[in-house]
Amino acid sequence: MRTLRPEGEVMEDQRIILPPRATSFRAVCSACQAGQPPSRGYLGAIVEGTLALDDDRGSIVCQRGHEIELVRETPAAALR
Ligand SMILES: [Zn+2]
Repeated sequence: MRTLRPEGEVMEDQRIILPPRATSFRAVCSACQAGQPPSRGYLGAIVEGTLALDDDRGSIVCQRGHEIELVRETPAAALR
């Protein structure tokens, strides 16, 4: 399992970068993680979803209603 972390410093503006061939993912919602005791770790902050291979953009909403942007990492972007 690979844990993807959102970019940026603004917690409400979360973004998950998906590898070019990934169709499903599991990530941690920073907003949820920040709102719970550190002893719980990632528990309760995990968000899972899918993105079709044809899609390069999308969004999901975690269990607590935080919206997270999905961005497909393209091979071209990886070379930058
Ligand atoms: Zn959340």
